[in-house]
Amino acid sequence: MWIKADDTVEVITGEDRGSRGKVLRVDRGAGTLVVEGVNRVYKHVRRSQRNPQGGRLSKEMPVQLCNVLLVCEKCGAAARFGARYLADGAKERYCKKCGAGNGLIAPPKARYARKTQ
Ligand SMILES: [Zn+2]
Repeated sequence: MWIKADDTVEVITGEDRGSRGKVLRVDRGAGTLVVEGVNRVYKHVRRSQRNPQGGRLSKEMPVQLCNVLLVCEKCGAAARFGARYLADGAKERYCKKCGAGNGLIAPPKARYARKTQ
């Protein structure tokens, strides 16, 4: 998964299909992420010491990774992404639609650097 917090993703299934939002949290273990404004639910809270008013609290619930696509910064399309090594051995993710790089996902490693003749 090449999605990180602060990326923009587009939802491709369900009630929120077509809406875009910023990634707030990613849970790699569970394969879920929380997207701003997507999958909002009302949580009914009882009156308590901390919340003397009680009432309804609107919050985002996590969505499955497979239900979103990362939005390319270069071409603006929701696309699938791959990973490739750069000449200096850094790993970057790239848009499979336009082929542009969209940020590094690993620091340069000499092991993967392409040798220059
Ligand atoms: Zn692109």
